[in-house]
Amino acid sequence: MKYIASFDIGTTNVKGMLVTSDAGIFLEKNVELKVLRYGDFVEQEPEQWYDAVKQIAASWFKVGIKPSDIGVLTFSGQMQDCIPVGDDLRPLRPAILYADGRATEQSARLIAELGEDRIHERTENHMDGSLTFPKILWLKEREEETFRAAKSFLVSSKDYVVARLTGACATDPTSAATTGCMDARTRAWVNAWLDRSCVTADKMPAIVPSDQVVGTIHAEGAAETGFAPGTPVLCGIGDAGAATLGAGVYEDGEIYAYLGTTGWVASATSGYIDVRSGAFNLAYVEEGRQIAIAPLSNAGNAHQWAVSTFGGGRADLLSYKQFDRSVEQTERGTDDVLFLPYLNGERCPVQDANASGCFIGLKPTTTKERMGTAVLEGVAYSMRQLLELVAGRPSDASLRVTLIGGGAKSKSWCRILADALGCEIAVPEDSQYLPSLGAAALGFRHAGWSGDFAAICRKYKGLGTVETFAPDEALRAYYDRQYGKFKKIYPAVAPLFAE
Ligand code: ADP
Repeated sequence: MKYIASFDIGTTNVKGMLVTSDAGIFLEKNVELKVLRYGDFVEQEPEQWYDAVKQIAASWFKVGIKPSDIGVLTFSGQMQDCIPVGDDLRPLRPAILYADGRATEQSARLIAELGEDRIHERTENHMDGSLTFPKILWLKEREEETFRAAKSFLVSSKDYVVARLTGACATDPTSAATTGCMDARTRAWVNAWLDRSCVTADKMPAIVPSDQVVGTIHAEGAAETGFAPGTPVLCGIGDAGAATLGAGVYEDGEIYAYLGTTGWVASATSGYIDVRSGAFNLAYVEEGRQIAIAPLSNAGNAHQWAVSTFGGGRADLLSYKQFDRSVEQTERGTDDVLFLPYLNGERCPVQDANASGCFIGLKPTTTKERMGTAVLEGVAYSMRQLLELVAGRPSDASLRVTLIGGGAKSKSWCRILADALGCEIAVPEDSQYLPSLGAAALGFRHAGWSGDFAAICRKYKGLGTVETFAPDEALRAYYDRQYGKFKKIYPAVAPLFAE
């Protein structure tokens, strides 16, 4: 075989790439997707995901790739979805996505009935309305016909594509960890909880290791996509797991941060992080290994807001560049301007949906450039809180954080992050490809190209150029002091948010 075909089934687009044995990326292609929003409801048509995979495959075959060159297919995908499919494995309704807010009442009832401590103990995670289990209960109560007709409630967008290609209903432990009904230690569904809610376990997809073959391309899948019948298809991995593999994070204590519209700081671990902090535990690719992940509701969204408010009025390429330059030229380390970035409430370490943003320390001399810079610093302090949570100790120069996601395109922000976190920030080039590369890592063993994930992650760390940003020693005392003040803002203003 020449290639692993790897697809990342995201929310805004599907990325497909062919990966070679030296982890080279060949014929990468993107297809955009539509999201349906009605008030609190956020949905997507699952068939779009499959159509995107068909389009990408057709583009490869058109330029001469032979179906037999592709030895295995692998996937990553959005998690926390609820995708009911019928006996024919077609969707019974649009997929209910992770960002959908309809199941709050159902999750509150599960917490009241099962007990929060018991849920934490069993799942090593929180229960909230964004998870799949409460969404299934919403269907049972509000769309009973769909609930009854469902053969399976798939969890990830990639589960749907795998089902259409092979006929198998399966999901991976990383995605299943975001349902609210997987036992973290056994990596099996908590049957007693499903039974008492009348969701029989046979309606849930089988939980299968990410690198296991769940089936082969069947005749219909081959006719529709052009892939060779019989090509093995792996179970794949939820997107946060794929990003972690792609960032080369595998050994205990290795840390990376994702700075997208929202963000997270995560580390590989063989233990469990305390979920009362707002962090999550996701099952990683091998038994007994977890990803400790601390989510950030406010990251690139605050950057976008600053670019359009203090920059050019829009958040386009030119405005990002101009804003970056204005931040570079702004003097740092001389004043007390602070920004609390909770534009969309916050989840970790502060858990307050009613929180909002605020500036502290404005003076008649404060410029809009300084305010824009303070926004980037505010997100950096938030990230330092998550870094310390995930690392389990105060940040210092012995830590190193790999930074991925669109926010890493801003060099001024990378510099601020290094200064505010007080440790080195390493930015791999072309980090948008890392989730698909992470999914491709699952195929290496199958292809006979590499034996274990630790070795693949080491290989990934050495790919391409990595730009590093070291903290400026002259600013260390200033940033430590400002961080101390930043941590006091939320407790001081929280009563106002509650009002
Ligand atoms: P998502 O997939 O969650 O939307 P991305 O990884 O695409 O996230 O990152 C989006 C963020 O990247 C934006 O919110 C913004 O902060 C940042 N960003 C996007 N484009 C640029 C750019 N040209 N220069 C600097 N930062 C950018």
